[in-house]
Amino acid sequence: MKNLKRREFLKLSVSAAALAAAGCATTAKSRGRVVVVGAGFGGATAAKYIRLWDPAIEVTLVERDSGFVSCPVSNLVLAGFTGMSDISRGYSALRSYGVRLVQDEAVGVDAAKRTVRLARGGELPYDRLVISPGVDFNFGEIQGYEGAMQSGRVLHAWKAGPQTAALRRQLEQMPDGGVYALSIPLAPYRCPPGPYERASVIAAYFRQAKPRAKVLVLDANPDITSKAGLFKAAWKDLYGATIDYRPNSRAIGVDGGSRTIKLELDDIKADVLNVVPPQSAGDIAVKAGVVTTNNRWCDVDWRTMESKAVKGVHVLGDATLSAPAMPKSASMANNHAKIAAAAIVDLLNGREPLPLKILNTCYSFVSRSEAIRVSSVHEWEPGQGTLIAVKGSGGVSAARSAPEATFAWNWARTIWADSLS
Ligand SMILES: Cc1cc2nc3c(=O)[nH]c(=O)nc-3n(C[C@H](O)[C@H](O)[C@H](O)COP(=O)(O)OP(=O)(O)OC[C@H]3O[C@@H](n4cnc5c(N)ncnc54)[C@H](O)[C@@H]3O)c2cc1C
Repeated sequence: MKNLKRREFLKLSVSAAALAAAGCATTAKSRGRVVVVGAGFGGATAAKYIRLWDPAIEVTLVERDSGFVSCPVSNLVLAGFTGMSDISRGYSALRSYGVRLVQDEAVGVDAAKRTVRLARGGELPYDRLVISPGVDFNFGEIQGYEGAMQSGRVLHAWKAGPQTAALRRQLEQMPDGGVYALSIPLAPYRCPPGPYERASVIAAYFRQAKPRAKVLVLDANPDITSKAGLFKAAWKDLYGATIDYRPNSRAIGVDGGSRTIKLELDDIKADVLNVVPPQSAGDIAVKAGVVTTNNRWCDVDWRTMESKAVKGVHVLGDATLSAPAMPKSASMANNHAKIAAAAIVDLLNGREPLPLKILNTCYSFVSRSEAIRVSSVHEWEPGQGTLIAVKGSGGVSAARSAPEATFAWNWARTIWADSLS
């Protein structure tokens, strides 16, 4: 499957040199050149929608991975309720919109010359650059993390892919009566409800396959950061003592040898260590000079997603300094992409971009067959100069339910199609 996807990608991709040879320079009919870095929920959507809304704009999408693996639904893979192939997709459909695919890593941005440098050599010129690199992990904030991760003794599985499959194997191999420890960093991090969904579905797996096993949740935050009431009710009703939730428990170190997570006041031993590190905007954002806040996130103009630090560069998704009450989610990244696509089409056509109203919906499975939801609407507020959550919009599910689980699967299939097909 992986090899197939890789071959497919390579066949459909073109190198930077080939692009240049094929006349990537603006043609007479071209309205301009856009380079997009990162083909996740933000970048792939932006590339597709720019081409949909103005086929006269040339779009080149740079992605280092050969295929797409979805973080949404990846917790179900950990629980054994679905497989890696169900959450994996190819990029080739984007080609039908005229998006040029380059499998490579962007390693530098020259904002003055308006070029992106690629790891395999060559530069891509742009009129507008879109960066949607997701997050990088700040491993250095947890002593011993990198060594323990290299030996496979600690995993994050917070970017779906090989670590998802590896963590599933560890959970399968864990003896009944063993302890799985999940450490959650201080907010903001990618997908606020994601860790609590993970704890829920792994508890569901344990209840069915290893009834004496425990899920120990070590949360750096003072409480569950999203849908707290619904998660707490599900844990009490469905899992009882299987889930042990400990707030204010920040990991400061990991010892792979003794399988220990070091907290500020305590050391915790477990059979499977799943430590999600603190995060910041992906490295290319640092190289592009668009990281503005706490050395971590990128402040943008929410009418266009243009960086407040570097003109001509638009930043999407998890890498942004979130607007008030806005989560780092696939749903948001996909909506950011539409703001940026509409604005770039307007700007390259000499029109003034108009602010857009956007929507977040985030489902979490609490068992194999039931889910819960949170949603919100965000609109431009000129006085505050940002997007704010519209009062009275959105909210959370009344209760966990099987229909919400059906909606969750439908949401995932729809957003995969909207971003990639
Ligand atoms: C366990 C889990 C569950 C989740 N569940 C949900 C959910 O149910 N609903 C929801 O809305 N969100 C969910 N999320 C959050 C969601 O996955 C992220 O918010 C979303 O992926 C962000 O999109 P993005 O475009 O910012 O980054 P990504 O989707 O991570 O895409 C970034 C892409 O950029 C590429 N890249 C980075 N740097 C470079 C470079 N220099 N050169 C080339 N390519 C590069 C990467 O390889 C990657 O493909 C979940 C996350 C996790 C971890």
